Amino acid sequence: VKTQKKLHFVIIPFMAQGHLIPLIDIARLLAKRNVTITIVTTPLNAIRFNSIIDRDIESGLPIQVLRLQFPNSDAELPDGCESIDTLPSLSLLKNFMHALGLLRQPFEQLFQELKPRPNCIVSDKNVLWSVDVASKFGVPRIVFDGLSCFAGSCIHSLHVSKVHESVVSESEPFVVPGLPDRIEITRAQLSGAFNPGPHHFFKLTREKVIEAEEGAYGVVVNSFEELELEYVKECKKTTKTAGKKVWCVGPVSFCNDDDLDKAQRGNLKASNNEEEYYLKWLDSWGPRSVIYACLGSLSRLIPPQQVELGLGLEESKRPFIWVIRGGYKSEEFEKWLKKDGFEERVKGRGLLIRGWAPQVLILSHPSIGAFLTHCGWNSTLEGICAGVPLVTWPMFAEQFYNEKFIVQISKIGVGVGAQKVVHNGDEQKFGVLVKRDQITEAIDKVMDAENDGEETRKRAQKLAEAAKRAVQEGGSSYVNITLLLEDIKNLCVTP
Ligand code: UDP
Repeated sequence: VKTQKKLHFVIIPFMAQGHLIPLIDIARLLAKRNVTITIVTTPLNAIRFNSIIDRDIESGLPIQVLRLQFPNSDAELPDGCESIDTLPSLSLLKNFMHALGLLRQPFEQLFQELKPRPNCIVSDKNVLWSVDVASKFGVPRIVFDGLSCFAGSCIHSLHVSKVHESVVSESEPFVVPGLPDRIEITRAQLSGAFNPGPHHFFKLTREKVIEAEEGAYGVVVNSFEELELEYVKECKKTTKTAGKKVWCVGPVSFCNDDDLDKAQRGNLKASNNEEEYYLKWLDSWGPRSVIYACLGSLSRLIPPQQVELGLGLEESKRPFIWVIRGGYKSEEFEKWLKKDGFEERVKGRGLLIRGWAPQVLILSHPSIGAFLTHCGWNSTLEGICAGVPLVTWPMFAEQFYNEKFIVQISKIGVGVGAQKVVHNGDEQKFGVLVKRDQITEAIDKVMDAENDGEETRKRAQKLAEAAKRAVQEGGSSYVNITLLLEDIKNLCVTP
């Protein structure tokens, strides 16, 4: 019997921050466990994580990054647009997926030249062709779908039961059947594949994604068992993964031991001037006093909704960091910030970050008191790692399921009362959906010791402790990586 000594994994992330960041972290975790890692992506996506990987390589980790040109012009996409979050409009999503499809052939060529021969492909669920490539080259494929087991279970239940199809009302809650908890949701809050909104595209890809998941050897999940044990079991049962493996290996944002250390000590280090500035600013506030508001990498609010959020933060009378993503007519909103005197009024107390914020670093600071989030799963987990209560404002995709998990199951947050899925631009039609009072009320609920705020915070802190234990040596996520590697090694034994 001949076993291969060292494993070699090829990692293919999907090009959107919420998919790229966690899969790169998973790649780094595997490299730390002595797996040779080849990450395949496009040049502009590589730039997003270059500096981290360069440091890993310098410190001796076996990682390489290979770049494939993204076929923008063949797919009629603007130059420089290599990720979902840089798409000028959602209507170009089709072109984007077409461009991604065109990467198959150059990938195959590259794969054949890789040495040593790869033993496994870990690909995002949206990289549909990786199924065929894996079977063509006879290597197992592990899928990363970016969801929690809870959200995965909700989606599976809807897919199988089709219960939503017999619900007439958009706003009347109905029960998602067959789950360990009684979860009620409305049709207006369902994720893309089940929501007959303007984006039929999601419905089409959903079928293909399910097929692709069914063809996988297993699923790697950014979560930890102690967080959602019942739903991990549920995922292992579902046909989607029947007979397949589900490895929870997170929270993967804890992928550096020294990050863990820093988070525990509250001894954070900046890696550039901006970060330095943010940390100093946070140092000037008392423990657990600052609200951090960031709605992820994809959400774009229309100016009147941005204004309402700003006023909600102002009226909370607390210090806050507000991450402002350029939205629709963002010039109009910028004008409001200045002309209406908002920036002046909140000066000192409100820190506005335009563009990209170092979210994990900020959340780890002891001055952060609560996180106003759109409930993207990565943000949710990052909030959990920081042990802060969440103020939830879901918008689209599986974010409403995540909100149920946060508010109803883990009880570590309070919702602002968002009612429906809003894709970028839809708000033009719907107008201001969340009012300033709803925002301040939810903030008060998690921040005030009375009002259950203290209990919510204690639960959040307890979960953060459990998260840290899960990733440390001997913890459930650590052990799951060991099991995953053993499984793949066993597959590699050749008679
Ligand atoms: N993120 C960040 N800075 C920002 C916005 C987002 O670092 O200004 C990171 C965040 O920490 C998370 C990811 O981007 O890791 C967003 O993923 P999530 O699943 O929360 O939401 P999405 O952006 O996919 O909707």
